[in-house]
Amino acid sequence: MIARRTQEIEPFLAVEVFQRAQALEREGADVIHLEFGEPDFDTPPVIREAAEKALKDGRTRYAHPLGILPLREAIAEHYRARYGVLVSPDQILVTAGSSPALLMLFSALLDPGDEVILSDPYYACYPKFVKFAEGRPVYVPVDEADAFQYRPEAAAARVGPATKAVLVNSPANPTGTVLSADRLAALCRLGPFVVSDEIYHGLTYEGPEHTVLEFTDRAFVLNGFSKAFAMTGWRVGYVIAPREFMPALTAMHGNFFISSNEFVQWAALAALREAAEDSARFRRIFDERRRAMVAGLRAIGLGVGALPTGAFYVLANARRYTADSLAFAFEILEHTHVGVTPGVDFGRNAEGYLRFSYAQSLERIEEAMRRIEPFLAARR
Ligand code: PMP
Repeated sequence: MIARRTQEIEPFLAVEVFQRAQALEREGADVIHLEFGEPDFDTPPVIREAAEKALKDGRTRYAHPLGILPLREAIAEHYRARYGVLVSPDQILVTAGSSPALLMLFSALLDPGDEVILSDPYYACYPKFVKFAEGRPVYVPVDEADAFQYRPEAAAARVGPATKAVLVNSPANPTGTVLSADRLAALCRLGPFVVSDEIYHGLTYEGPEHTVLEFTDRAFVLNGFSKAFAMTGWRVGYVIAPREFMPALTAMHGNFFISSNEFVQWAALAALREAAEDSARFRRIFDERRRAMVAGLRAIGLGVGALPTGAFYVLANARRYTADSLAFAFEILEHTHVGVTPGVDFGRNAEGYLRFSYAQSLERIEEAMRRIEPFLAARR
């Protein structure tokens, strides 16, 4: 019998759509993948060269459990230069992507029954991490009419004696929403710890993003290289944590993972030091696609309230067509050979929505809109 805590980890619905898409491809279909949460760009050459050099230099052993010092220093410098906040390299733990960092920080933070406030829609994995650490997710609905912005007063209404943390994700997956400095500051004043997932920083299109560290020290900041540097497969990320949590996080990481891969960390260092231009180029390309996709979705009869201003997703309203986004995503796939993610993957409040990723070329995005248009027209 599989342990209860693990039985509760349901697979991504997006994966089911993807598996069906792959089956169609095996039959010869030309499927356009708008269900993916990863950049379609190659990792910039300076980063790959740094990894090759590290391999040649024999950087193939266990590393420091927190991560190599030059990388932690560069991360601290990045937060100082970009946001004007001071963090010590001793507060940084480098992990195999930000995902293991989420697992460890919730394990370090939550006792059974402790509550974590999340927006709904949310990144599909968050509740799974919280529940695995024996915590309880408490949802605050965020709505299209409000540009899916997380309202501090709505979060405040859910804060109680069991609340351990408020989770913030700006820019957000799946909504593309970027929180204003005022709202972030207000969330930081609520009292509980703030867990801020800043993985989409660097991908904002209407002005700079803010880190919660500008407003509070009682925060865990997650970030990484997957999105802004097109490094999803390298598996490198980090958490910046309050000092008092570092011994626990270090012990956990040392026991469970020993260390992150050393040569990959040298590549991540090159990303921060030498790939800013590449990342800026990705951002410009995403911005152009964002405009095309929003215009396209509106033109074919899907609802996009406010313009999403970060990440690479649009959460489009399909409620005039369906109340079952999973079935609808499969129907779209079968009829148009376009893969999209059902909103219900991201919470009950996103049922009736579909997430479109614009981590695809402009031509493919436009082709997808051409295919879906008659499918929707026939359902009006
Ligand atoms: N947070 C969010 C909001 C994400 O969308 C993702 C990736 N889909 C992650 C964290 C995990 O990214 P990684 O483990 O590659 O750093």
